[in-house]
Amino acid sequence: VNPPFYGVSRPPAFSTITAETDHGKWRRGLTGRLELSYTTLPGNYVTPGTGELRVMQAEGREVLAQGAARLRGKPVLPGTGIKGAVRTLYEILTGSCGPTTSEGRRGVDCAPNQRCAACRLFGHLGQHRESSNQGRLGFDDATPADAGAVEVTMARVPEGHEPHGEHTPGDLRLYDLAAARTKDPTTKQTVPREPILAREVYTGRFLGSATFWTAMPVELGLLMLALGCSPEEDERFPLRLGGVRFHGQGTVQISVEGLLRATPDLKRQRLDAADARKEAQGWSREARSVLPPANLCALRSVAEILNRRSS
Ligand SMILES: [Zn+2]
Repeated sequence: VNPPFYGVSRPPAFSTITAETDHGKWRRGLTGRLELSYTTLPGNYVTPGTGELRVMQAEGREVLAQGAARLRGKPVLPGTGIKGAVRTLYEILTGSCGPTTSEGRRGVDCAPNQRCAACRLFGHLGQHRESSNQGRLGFDDATPADAGAVEVTMARVPEGHEPHGEHTPGDLRLYDLAAARTKDPTTKQTVPREPILAREVYTGRFLGSATFWTAMPVELGLLMLALGCSPEEDERFPLRLGGVRFHGQGTVQISVEGLLRATPDLKRQRLDAADARKEAQGWSREARSVLPPANLCALRSVAEILNRRSS
């Protein structure tokens, strides 16, 4: 079997047990907040786009650069972008609607009584108000871990390019983690694309959180796997966020830093990083024990692709 090249075989749809389908399960549903850190990998940066231009001091002069996202003037990784990136991987892992439906449209093939695993946890935007739901998971914006945790610099990047799906074997595609290249018109050789655009980029460590409501331990386990935090080495990977992913950038390693849990009597309990990681590993193991082998295989393919580094 040839290893997939940016392509992942389509795993079967995996239906999680949820509170909706079994009333007694409500009591097992967990509500709380996972505190997460997002750290850029060495030699890599993250640059959540805004479409704004910003004047920066770089290369010993003022440079007009594409600005990265800010919140009250400080660097930020927007929660919406994190949720979208995690959802895509969760969809692949669980064979949910979205990338795994023939049209690639989220929610279209998802009947109200038989929502896919991703729509149940992340929410579903139906055509009618009554068929929509907000989901039971949200991501907050991630901000610098402390005053010196994130460095803001300027990087030169090549122009984006259209992905060529027809060159990619596999049913589902993940593009990235290679420096952008192009064919030289004279020599017909592929050469690195010229970095002609200036972009504001972030390196360092951000802190944020994911809030969940009445989520089953299996669902939280699947979430941990989609965050690249499997207990198994060959299933771990950095997530990819923001712009310039076509050029192999945007890798962030996620780590659990704490867990705030609401107990059934609505008291709050906080677990520190070590205990929160132990708890999360328990969820992950539960998820791995019920996932069909083909879904675990898809997870390993995702990990293999997202761990590639540009040379
Ligand atoms: Zn769905």
